[in-house]
Amino acid sequence: MRVAVASFEYEGNSLSLRVERREDFERRGLLRGEALLAHVQGKNTALAGGIGVLQEAGFDPIPTLAAKGGAGGHIEETFFQETLAEIAERVKDAAPLDGVFLALHGAMICGKEKDPEGAILTRVRKIVGPDVPIAASLDLHAHVTDRMVEMADILVGYETYPHVDAFETGSKAADMLVQTLRGEIDPVVRLCKYNAIVPVLGGATLDGAPMAEVAAKARSMEAEGRALSISYFPVQPWLDMADVGITGVAVTDGDAAGARAAAQEILDEMWQRRHAFELEAMTADQAVPAALGMHAGTVLLIDAPDSIGGGAAGDSPALLTAILKHAPDVSSAISIYDPHAAQRAFDLGVGAVAEFSVGAWLDTRWGPPVKVTATVESLHDGRFVYRGGPVGNTEVSLGPSAVLRVGGLQLLCASHAVYEHMDEHYAACGIDISGCRLVSFKNLMNFRKLLSDDVEYIALHGPGATPLRLQDVAWENRKRPYWPADNMETPEPL
Ligand SMILES: [Zn+2]
Repeated sequence: MRVAVASFEYEGNSLSLRVERREDFERRGLLRGEALLAHVQGKNTALAGGIGVLQEAGFDPIPTLAAKGGAGGHIEETFFQETLAEIAERVKDAAPLDGVFLALHGAMICGKEKDPEGAILTRVRKIVGPDVPIAASLDLHAHVTDRMVEMADILVGYETYPHVDAFETGSKAADMLVQTLRGEIDPVVRLCKYNAIVPVLGGATLDGAPMAEVAAKARSMEAEGRALSISYFPVQPWLDMADVGITGVAVTDGDAAGARAAAQEILDEMWQRRHAFELEAMTADQAVPAALGMHAGTVLLIDAPDSIGGGAAGDSPALLTAILKHAPDVSSAISIYDPHAAQRAFDLGVGAVAEFSVGAWLDTRWGPPVKVTATVESLHDGRFVYRGGPVGNTEVSLGPSAVLRVGGLQLLCASHAVYEHMDEHYAACGIDISGCRLVSFKNLMNFRKLLSDDVEYIALHGPGATPLRLQDVAWENRKRPYWPADNMETPEPL
């Protein structure tokens, strides 16, 4: 059996000004042919999981293109169209094909194309025809559209947040594809959606969290034989589109009505818990003094409105300003995306003392750059390998990075905005966060892996491209009424 494999993964954010281009994808690796197959060995990605299952089944995965992006505002339309065309060309060249496996994120946005994953699936469907099954793995925050459901035979989302099961999700989708090609199942996929968005920060599937109950329900429905796969998508909420909302998706063996009913049931499980997704948060000016009053040796300050993993620029000066104001001599660490400050530090060299302008160089909406007099403490190439998560064991680079010393603060200025997993980015630049009283993070979930008896956190709220308070955003395209702005008792189907 010949199965074409491809990935094109990127998470968009309508509120972010960050634009990703070909060079950003090339930096993370645009892989083709045999290099793609070699690269996935030992990786924890969905693509690696899918390819592994196909190989174990004795099938022949035909590598086409793997394009791995992070999160940001949007990807350039020309890069999207060129990549789509290249995937299409390579799938065409791989004929004859028995199946197709795609690893997608599901919340990509670009310029004109409003449903990029729908467009990818449509193009591939057009090439392989109606009888060749197509399976795709998706992120838990995917924005699943009607067109995606129409074009794919199998859609499976991550089950966990923090995302620790990308590999298993790729495996699950590919395993269903294998069963389909062996004639054991005849998959049918359906979705149900409400006009509701919920804060990403409250969406953990860790023990005791509301999404853990939703996840347990999905697994028990699968165990009861209600469906082959049930996925819940609390969705990437910072997408300004009329059809974005919490979504349930189910795949059954030939039972469309059963798939729809299962999707509806898991969607209702999320809707019923909508209030529980809201978590407490403080402004930066409240959070820094509050952190100093906590017992833990280290307090993580979660800069939620500037979450790089959610697509924000990563250059917000708000928390830096608050630390310099309330805790200038306290041992602390902040990372900020600022290639200009990093370049200036490289030009000056280690040991130089100079005035720097830091932050707000790309996105000036959340405050002006901060002027500091700093010592260039160290300079780094910024390379590191993720210790886990959805991109576990893959290498990434912050680019040329500088650690500036300002009083008690170690200020890490990176040349690229890079997805944060744990503290790999700090360690790569010689910063040991266990020695810090306050440490900033620009992610909404992975920081939880660092929590312990001696490490606590405070989440920040405020303006940004990844704000917690979704009802405060001036959406242009959302339909009314929507949750949470209109506080409805009855859900509004989309
Ligand atoms: Zn996600």
